[in-house]
Amino acid sequence: MSEWSPLIWFDGRLVPFEDAKIHVMTYSLHYGVGVFEGIRAYRTYDGRTAIFRLREHIRRFFDSAKIYKLEIPFTEDELVEAIKELVRRSGFDEAYIRPIAFINIRKLGVKPATRRASVAIGLVSWGKYLGKAYYEGARVIVSPWRRIPPNALPLNAKAIGQYLNSYLAAIDADIKGFDEAIMLDTRGFVSEGPGENIFIVKNGNVYTPPLYASVLPGVTRETVMMILENELEVEVTERDIALGELLTADEAFFTGTAAEITPIVEVDGIKIGNGKPGPLTRKLQSLYEDIVRGKIDKYSEWLTYV
Ligand code: PMP
Repeated sequence: MSEWSPLIWFDGRLVPFEDAKIHVMTYSLHYGVGVFEGIRAYRTYDGRTAIFRLREHIRRFFDSAKIYKLEIPFTEDELVEAIKELVRRSGFDEAYIRPIAFINIRKLGVKPATRRASVAIGLVSWGKYLGKAYYEGARVIVSPWRRIPPNALPLNAKAIGQYLNSYLAAIDADIKGFDEAIMLDTRGFVSEGPGENIFIVKNGNVYTPPLYASVLPGVTRETVMMILENELEVEVTERDIALGELLTADEAFFTGTAAEITPIVEVDGIKIGNGKPGPLTRKLQSLYEDIVRGKIDKYSEWLTYV
């Protein structure tokens, strides 16, 4: 179970968790307009707490807001400081951090009376997003729901309404008894999970769908590409992946801030490789763990100590 931090940062002030409320008639609840981020803070090897790639997440938050024409009445620096302070004051040494920007007015009509957003930031202590699948590998289905095409919604934005598509895929997998879903894009190529990017390994080569295959430009996706290239001298090719290639891959894994690196061991009842997390996936999990916990100096600029 998750455990919320006792404080919420809400429009510039730290307030008790129970006081950070909005009205049921709030605009964004009705129309799904809003943008958010998911960021993790880790306890590092020397006992301090560091937020992983905070700047990149805040950048994407502002990009998402820009695309949706929301005005965030704070600067990137102010939100960076707000998050640092919130983590410090919460007393958590590890946390999943959730900033959200939404239109906080009580007025209906799709065209809002203001584009100025309210910003709230919460912290939750969250273990492994996909639970034991992190260790044993995820059993997934190919979703009957296609990933939204980028000419319908801007997929480089992390916007709340876009998660209806993720929700449908995730709840369907859950009802059918699987850990997660994989969505195809409208052309039928592998796209992404409801909250994760996807990689496959074949004959020592690593592939991931290109951004035009309806994927969110994941911070972890980029991190993993850099780790593979710098630490393992494996170049990642961004190219379309057909479903048949996924089914016959040697290894497959999800990446995401919440999911970190989660092996995929079964797709629609078909084993990936030998049905166990693959050696490259395992290696990446351990390198990622070392990097987020500050064990590899070279990546220290990715860590914001609170
Ligand atoms: N795709 C989707 C749809 C997501 O929600 C996420 C999680 N933010 C990701 C991919 C992975 O992105 P990141 O690595 O930046 O968390």
